[in-house]
Amino acid sequence: MSKQVAKVSAMGALLVMALTLFGCATSADEILVEDQKAYNEALKNIKPGDTIKLADGVWRDFEIIFTGNGSAEKPITLTAQTKGRVILSGQSNLRLAGEYLVVSGLVFKNGFTPTSEVVSFRRSKDDLANNSRVTEIVIDNYNQPERYEVDFWVMMYGKNNRFDHNHLVGKRNKGVTMAVRLNTTDSQENHHRIDHNYFGPRPILGSNGGETLRIGTSHYSRTNSFTIVENNYFDRCDGELEIISNKSGKNIFRSNTFYQSRGTLTMRHGNNNLVEGNIFFGNGADHTGGIRVINGGQTIRNNYMEGLKGTRFGGAFVVMNGVPNSPINRYDQVKDADIFGNTIVDSDNIQLAAGSDAERSAAPVDSRFANNLIYNEDGRDTFTIYDDVSGIDFTDNVIGRAPPQSLASGFQMMDIKMTRAENGLLYADGDGLENIGVAKDLQPTSKDMTGVSWFLKAEPLIAFASGKTIEVKPEDNALFNAVNAAEAGDVLLLLPGSYVVGKFLKLDKPLTFKGEGDVNLTFERSALFEILDGGSLQLINLNISGADAPDNAGNSVIRTSPYAMLQNYRLEIIEMNFIDLDVNHSFNVVTAAKGTFADHILIQNSTFKDVTGAVFKLDKESDDFGIYNAEYLTIENSNFDNVQGALVDFYRGGTDESTFGPHFSLQNSTLSHVGSGKRNKSKSSLQLHGVQVTDMSGNTFKNSQPFLINHTVGEPKTRIIKNKFIATPAPLVSELNSGLEPTAILQDNEGIDP
Ligand code: CA
Repeated sequence: MSKQVAKVSAMGALLVMALTLFGCATSADEILVEDQKAYNEALKNIKPGDTIKLADGVWRDFEIIFTGNGSAEKPITLTAQTKGRVILSGQSNLRLAGEYLVVSGLVFKNGFTPTSEVVSFRRSKDDLANNSRVTEIVIDNYNQPERYEVDFWVMMYGKNNRFDHNHLVGKRNKGVTMAVRLNTTDSQENHHRIDHNYFGPRPILGSNGGETLRIGTSHYSRTNSFTIVENNYFDRCDGELEIISNKSGKNIFRSNTFYQSRGTLTMRHGNNNLVEGNIFFGNGADHTGGIRVINGGQTIRNNYMEGLKGTRFGGAFVVMNGVPNSPINRYDQVKDADIFGNTIVDSDNIQLAAGSDAERSAAPVDSRFANNLIYNEDGRDTFTIYDDVSGIDFTDNVIGRAPPQSLASGFQMMDIKMTRAENGLLYADGDGLENIGVAKDLQPTSKDMTGVSWFLKAEPLIAFASGKTIEVKPEDNALFNAVNAAEAGDVLLLLPGSYVVGKFLKLDKPLTFKGEGDVNLTFERSALFEILDGGSLQLINLNISGADAPDNAGNSVIRTSPYAMLQNYRLEIIEMNFIDLDVNHSFNVVTAAKGTFADHILIQNSTFKDVTGAVFKLDKESDDFGIYNAEYLTIENSNFDNVQGALVDFYRGGTDESTFGPHFSLQNSTLSHVGSGKRNKSKSSLQLHGVQVTDMSGNTFKNSQPFLINHTVGEPKTRIIKNKFIATPAPLVSELNSGLEPTAILQDNEGIDP
């Protein structure tokens, strides 16, 4: 074969090296291009077997259109001069259209697509790619600047395409990371293959639209896709409650690993799918789930689930009830489900006929649940049965310790011993257990089998106090200068004394401020700390007074950037004292802006005294789009005294059920004279709207306004237990979602009627 390598630039320089190899008459060109014009020239003359190589370096604002018609033997290739050294940045993207195209080796970072897709297997609605492959590309934090502006990183159209060995990490704005579309007949029954990809950490979005992979849409969900999803690694894909949303028929999900990912592989729509050999490791993390079964003809076999803490629809294993004659966008009844040989170990919830209600009244039928192994070290009964499950034939299942109380037969209760095998999975020892649970030869897909070798699978967060310690003296500007000089993870150790801070302390990295001894801070701007994109704040052992703040309404000690933030932040307040936040009205401790999201806000062993606003103002997402400001607000062992606003105004509007949060926890704390300010419109000491999980116990509430708790969507869990109410009315809980009976649990509280 005679092979030519040509180097082309827009200047017209042309270097041709002819490499003559023996025995073959056809010629294939390898063309190295150094700018966009040269690329376009090269593409014009492309022929089957040719390769275009992009020169190493940064290509800004390059909207690549890669078209051509190769053949199975002679595909047309677009690749990097050196894999990993070609960076598409700015407003770049990639569209493929034609036949037998291969793209590899490119990295998308430091920018975002000007269209709605970064990598698209089509050029336009009618010009699709078929028999094509995208392999070894990286998309790294290539996000729209606006958190809730929707885009998609990879969209597969056409037929017989493959997406493999790619690395996708850090999708932070709204929109599924990757999807297969079936929107025209040319994209249906597509036989795509999605394999050996590394789906790296995707943080909590705080709204619907944070799925990692979707196959189909509800509109085409009764159409077959024949897509194979195998040997992929889903690493902490936490975006929302569906990790994978399957919405079409005849797909195969095989041998994927789900590592500590919140949510489930959801068989949301579409029939006759096969789910086998997948591994779910929850590691005991909140909301880690397994498989949710809906629709007809689903086979779920040889899957392994361990340490999954998910509840309700997000449980380790969930079989839903359907809607009789369901509209295409609701829930088709489960029929002919074959659930066989799965292992579910140390996981919290197995739910059958889940979602049973007046609408979802069709219980599963003609189904089998056999040879499954269910084991929990603590002997807990993990089954919840919501409706008639006589349509499921239970046979030869083995359960460790606790029997499922509502299921009379089909389970053998055995005191088994679990041993971890060389493949990393737990198996039951004992005679007759060979065919129970997953097969011995199941091979988990490990992280290093996926993605590319030349791009690091980095940890997503820099922990507080993981860097160096910098001492700061109480001198003019010293704190401001120290913040600017510090690096992510550093600790600023404030030596004893008084600090008057004359400038905003703006944080675009995680920093800890720790007082040594008696450290007093005041500030002269409308906020002391402003958390910017990339910033996180940990405060330890400081006294902060608002006495020097401007005599204007609306100051805050801590606020988030007024601009939308892509990166979730963390805020921790430990052993802190806040006083004199009362120079004017509406002085808050923490104010979150619209478009910002906290992974967690944690308060421990702190006191707050004389505050004219709210302590936590987390209510700026007022559009009722299902968006909110913080996933977890956790308060422990703290005191709040004379707060005119509420302890927290927390708002999650909307009626979709796509988020696990918000969560609110208040433990062993005291509220005294909270919520009575005349500007506090809600006239409450605590306002929780649409919060999904609320836990309050061991607290004392004195001379305070009542709580207002609005249950708006899903099955919110509110537990108010063992608190003391002194001259404080009972909590007001409203069921705004369904007109259901009140679901809040109020127990063993003193000072209010039970
Ligand atoms: Ca969703």
